[in-house]
Parts: sequence; structure tokens; C-alpha cells
Amino acid sequence: MDLPIPTPNADTRPYWDAAQQGRLVLQHCSACGAVQAVPRSYCGACHSNALIWRESNRRGVIASFSIVHRGPTSAFRDHLPYVLALVDMTEGVRLMLNVIGTDRLDTQIGDPVEIVFEPRGAEGFKMPQAQRSRV
Ligand SMILES: [Zn+2]
Repeated sequence: MDLPIPTPNADTRPYWDAAQQGRLVLQHCSACGAVQAVPRSYCGACHSNALIWRESNRRGVIASFSIVHRGPTSAFRDHLPYVLALVDMTEGVRLMLNVIGTDRLDTQIGDPVEIVFEPRGAEGFKMPQAQRSRV
């Protein structure tokens, strides 16, 4: 069974469209300069709707993580255990992503990561995920 894929809405479609092109974009407020992780029609800091999308440098650091041994649905059965992480991006926002890669179970807080795109389902819908950086 395939892992679930998101259903884009009017606010999130630019984020998912960019992901399909292998780009991570974040909303920046041109009124107050805030960057927000969850796409919305207005700025969560100042309520302006003067939001623009900018490409992220796709780099961050593991702020926290959990190794999941029981998935929320049976679709996750073949993917256990997986690593769910909070990643502090260099742009100042925190994203919730899976850590992927053969070394994912070695994840530690403070690990540098880069955002990569994992294809899911028959259509290969690309999901932004974190991968530990090789140094
Ligand atoms: Zn703002």
C-alpha cells in the first residue's frame, strides 16, 4: 500500500508545485519580513496578505525527532521504523519532515540536514524530506 500524499489547496499549491520541480519554497512577508512554514493566505506575525514565495537553500538542523515504530495507518507498515523530525531551517522556520536514508536511525539532535524530494505513489508525487548531510 502506498504512503499517503497530500491534497494541495489554494494556500499550499505553490509549495507542492515547487516540490514537484525539486524546489523548496517558503512564504516571506514583504510587510514585516517574517518567514512562515505553514502556507497561509496571510502573515501569521502581522496579518498582512503581502506574501511572496522564495526558494529555500534547503539546509537545516535537527531540532528534535522521534523514531516511529507503529504507523498511523497500515500504509506505513512496510516503512517502519521511520524517523519524524522537527528541522530548524536556516531561514528561521521549523519544518516537520521525515528523515530518510539508510542512516536515518542514527539521527541525532543537531545533525545538519538537507531537504530532498522523495517520490511517492504511482504518480511519483514528490514529498520534501530531510536527509542527514555528509560532512
Ligand atoms: Zn508580516
